[in-house]
Formats: sequence, structure tokens, C-alpha cells
Amino acid sequence: MSGFSIAHQLVLAACERAVRPRKRMTVSEWADGAPRMLSLEGSAEPGEWRTSRTPYLREIMDQLSEHSRAKKVVFKKASQVGGTEVGSNWLGYIMAYAKGPVAVVMPTEKALQDWMSQKFEPMAAETPAVREVLASRSNRSADNNAGRKKFVGGILYCKTAGSTSELKSTSLRYAIADEVDEYDRNEKQGSPLELLEVRLTTFHDRKLFIVSSPTVKDASTIDEQFEGGDQRYYHVPCPHCEHLQRLQWSNLRWEAPIGKRRHVDSAWYVCADCGAEIEEHHKGRMLAELGHGGQARWVADAPDNPYPSYMINALYSPAGLGLSWPELATQWIEAQGDPAKLMPFINTRLGESWANRTGDIKPNALLARAEPVPRRTIPAGCLILTAGVDVQEDRLEIQILGWGWSGHGLRCWVIDYHVLPGRPAEPHVWDALATFLATPIHNAWGKPMVPEATGIDTGHHTQAAYAFVRARRAKRATAMKGANVPGKALLGKPSLQDVDWRGQTEKKGVALYQVGTDTAKFTVYSWLDEDGKRDGPDRLVRFPQDLELSYYEGLVSEAFDARKNKWVVKKGRRNEPLDTWVYGYAATHHPELFMHRWRAADWRRLQALMEPEHQAATSEAAPPVQTSAPAAPAAARPAAKRQLVKPRQGGL
Ligand SMILES: [Zn+2]
Repeated sequence: MSGFSIAHQLVLAACERAVRPRKRMTVSEWADGAPRMLSLEGSAEPGEWRTSRTPYLREIMDQLSEHSRAKKVVFKKASQVGGTEVGSNWLGYIMAYAKGPVAVVMPTEKALQDWMSQKFEPMAAETPAVREVLASRSNRSADNNAGRKKFVGGILYCKTAGSTSELKSTSLRYAIADEVDEYDRNEKQGSPLELLEVRLTTFHDRKLFIVSSPTVKDASTIDEQFEGGDQRYYHVPCPHCEHLQRLQWSNLRWEAPIGKRRHVDSAWYVCADCGAEIEEHHKGRMLAELGHGGQARWVADAPDNPYPSYMINALYSPAGLGLSWPELATQWIEAQGDPAKLMPFINTRLGESWANRTGDIKPNALLARAEPVPRRTIPAGCLILTAGVDVQEDRLEIQILGWGWSGHGLRCWVIDYHVLPGRPAEPHVWDALATFLATPIHNAWGKPMVPEATGIDTGHHTQAAYAFVRARRAKRATAMKGANVPGKALLGKPSLQDVDWRGQTEKKGVALYQVGTDTAKFTVYSWLDEDGKRDGPDRLVRFPQDLELSYYEGLVSEAFDARKNKWVVKKGRRNEPLDTWVYGYAATHHPELFMHRWRAADWRRLQALMEPEHQAATSEAAPPVQTSAPAAPAAARPAAKRQLVKPRQGGL
């Protein structure tokens, strides 16, 4: 009996092991216990992952656990809150524990490669549980390539948003859609996110994790996905009155920097309930969650919506992981009046989308802002000029812009708008342009001014435009080409182009600059929009009295189409006033000017030259005291020097 019983017992024990349900494990438990290592390359804090470091991520990760009922989890987030680690931890959990086919989708090839080299590969190499399941397959090259990696119990597909259609015949159990606001929504095959959702339908326990910082309002996929969910915000207790609240930017306070400094040393948070000051060092204790030594918790604004969606901003970043409160306040101050900085601040720090009001600006409202000043008048405060030129089949259109500085930022004046008729194939048109640009306009102090840099759109009649630039027929005449790709720098790095120059080809004869037209358009439209709230002298863009309504119609001839994620020209409108403004604005970034890097002191030095205090301004602008060779108003050296060049005598 005993012999039988031992064998029998062994069999029974084996059977029991086989049928016993394995211990439930959540993603955070797996990540804390794996151990899941954060690498030097991919993390601000290398070493073992600890969920307690970023407690607000625990619930989000655990919604992705095998036994959670959520089929879709959405995370709208600021940068540097640890958001990408949620995806990495989940992926490690899937590969080591939950198993199944999984796809990771990134917006672009570059984003995918960065993710592979900085996130996935270090995670796989340094987390033993993941390394093991990959290693057993790694010798079979057919199983593993850049786009697809087999592991024990599953397969990982790595795709760009544009190539999700390649997953047509694939069934997925899990998917991570990262930085979805950067996806091209105009893919021919349809929305990448919808394609992904279709691939997931065959598994009843499927899960999709959608994560991104937002971009432009009404064009933002993550906004849409967040609002479709139950909209959870992380509520933390006030250390003084215990009141649970979400941290909002409007409740942050700081000591204004003194004098010329822009750096904030001290910032604090004001409790929405008791009004007491909350210091940043309280944050560690405030972030700890209910059930893990603290009181904080996620609270849903729309609990009836079908799936969990989460949102968090940079105020929550644990000390040492992201920017501190004073650093955030400093960035905020620097971004004021500068949409090129404000938009990324709102997107990546506040985790909110940028309001698109580009279609709301009316030409008549702009015309009403015109001031009783004739064209070609330099108002006080306007210290330097640039110009933009648009080349059309039968004419050139030119806009001259004036620039100055007031308190916190740039000021712009429209100084002149002019059309030169004639076909650009004929030299006389370019002669007329050279004369027009070299004709000085005098300020009220009698100082002659011409555009210090001119941006020329070389999209049409390219060779004629190159020849004009090559021959330096205007000060810092610059060949430009629009690159309407979102997020491009206003003026990119130049590339050298060949020029057909009097029948000869000059190799690399001209530097062609790419212009971030989208960036420039967002800038001018947000200035014009902001000016709606300001009065005359405080406005950011000022107009003279004698511009036609057609000029204003042209300036606001385009609107950002959120659905198409691009700028479109309104029906029947000409857009040359906008294009020439864009090229004139881009010219301020010419490498010999770098006007965007000037500080208040640079502007003061220029003002001392252009508007000398000892010399009273004449009431009439532009006295006709024409010297044969007017002094240049001053050009700046590259920003590193932060020094204005003294005006050269006797020539431009
Ligand atoms: Zn309080």
C-alpha cells in the first residue's frame, strides 16, 4: 500500500500544481519584484524600478494587469512624469508573465528607433525575466528583426503609425500606442489607431494602452481619447488641511525675479481650500497613495464613461525626476509673449492642448487696429527692419517689417507692403527689387534704415532668385524654402545649392534655408489673437493707416485645420501678405542677426544708437537728409557674444 501511495501522491501533487491557479500578479508588483532595471541610457534615475517613486503610475499600470477588466487605458500626460515607463513595465510584464502577441506603435521611424535603443533594448538586457524569454529565441534570425521579435509565449511587433496596415492579418492581444498626437491622421489606409483597435478584437481579454502629450486643441487624439474615458485626475491632500485636490497650474505662485534676472528662486502652491502655502518638499508625502501609506488617489470626473482615462501635469513630478516648481515658473516666464515657447510649455508641462483660434481672426477687426501713421514711417521703438519677398509669375510682393522690444518680448510693426509688377524671368524686376530694398526709410531721429535681412521665397523662378541672393543685391538676402512640417525650427540649417550664374554653374553657390512656416504662422496668429485683448500701444503687431483690406484678408488667409493637421488657405484668398510676413520674420533668425537671442540689454544698446536721447526726435518722420551712404542701423553678432556691432560708417 505504501508503495502505491507514494507514487499516487506524487501524481496527485503534479496534477494539483498543474491545475492550481497561478498567483495573480499586477504590473506594478511585477515591476517592483522582477527586478525591473532602469538603464543609464533610458532613465533619469538608473537602478531598480520602484513604483513608490511615482505613486500615481501604480493604478494606471495595474489597469493593464491580466485580471483587470479594462480593455482600453488612456494616459494624457506631461513629459518627465515617468509616463513612458508605464509602457515599458507593461511590455516587460507581458513578455515575462502575461504572454501573447503585442504591438508597439510609434509615430515615426525615428521615434521607433529611439524607443528601441533607449527604452526597449536596455529594458530587455537588464531585466533578467525579459532577457530569458528573448534569449531562448535570439539565435533564429528569421524570428527576430527590427520590426518583430519572438519571445517565449508571444511575439512583439514594432511599427510606425504609417505601417500599422502591415498588421492586417495579425491578431493582437495587447498594443501600446505611444505619442498618438504625432500620428499622421491622413494616412491613406485610415486612422492608425482605428486599424490597431480592429487587430485587437479577436481576443476577449485584449488591452490597448494609449499614451501621449497633447498638441493642438480639436486636432488632439489624446484629448479625444481622454474625454471619451472617465477622466481621472490625481488628487493629493493639502499638508495643512488634508483637503484632497488636483494640482493645477493656476494655483502655483512664485517670487518674481528681481531686476534683469528671469530666474525664479522660490515657488509654492496655494491650497484650493484653506489657502495655505504648500512647499515643494511636501510633495513626497502628498503623492503617496491610499493603501500605500498616504491619502492620494485618482478621482474620475466622468465616472459613467466606459474606460479609464488619466491625466497628469508636470507639477506632480517627484523631486529630481522632472523640473522643480521654480524651474517650471522660470520656463513659464520665458514663454510669455513667445508662442514658439508657450505652446510646448502648455503641451509638455501642463499636459494640455493648445487652443486653436487661427480661424477666428477677422480682416475687418485687423483693419480697425490700423493707426494714424502713413506707410514707410518708423515709429519710436522700432529699431531694426527685415523684409520678406514672395515670387509670383508676374510680380514680386515685398513686405517690410520693423522690430523692437518692450518689457517682455518682441514687438512688430508692418512698415510697408509693395508689389513690383513684371515677370521674374526678366532682370529689370530684380533691379527694381534691389532699388526698393536699398531705399532708406528714416526714423524720427533722422537715422536711415533699410532691411537688415531679406528672406526670399525661392519656390518659383528658383534660379533667378538664387542669382539675386548670390550677387548679394540686398543686405543679407537669403534664399528660403518653406517646410510645412509641424514643429520645425523657424529657420533651419542651410544647405548649399548650385546656381546657374550668367550661363555658368556655380557649385554650391547659395545657401538655402528651410523655413518652419507652420511655426511662423502659429506665431503671427497667436500675436494677432492676443492683440484682440490689448489696446493700441500695447499690441504686439502694429499696422499703418494705408494698407488695403486685401492686405488683411491676405494676412489671415489661412487657418490651421485641426482635422487635417495642417494649414489651409481659405477659399478665394491670396496669401502673399502672410507668406511675406513669414519670410520677413524668418529673416530675424538670420545667423548674422539672431534677433531671437537678443536680450533687453542688446535692444537698449541698439536704441541708444537709433534713438539717441540727447537728440530730440523731429515731429515729422523721415526728414529728407539723405547722405550718400547712410549708416547701418546695427547688426548683431551671433548670440554668444551678446554684443551689438557698432554701426559701420559709409556703407551697408
Ligand atoms: Zn489646505
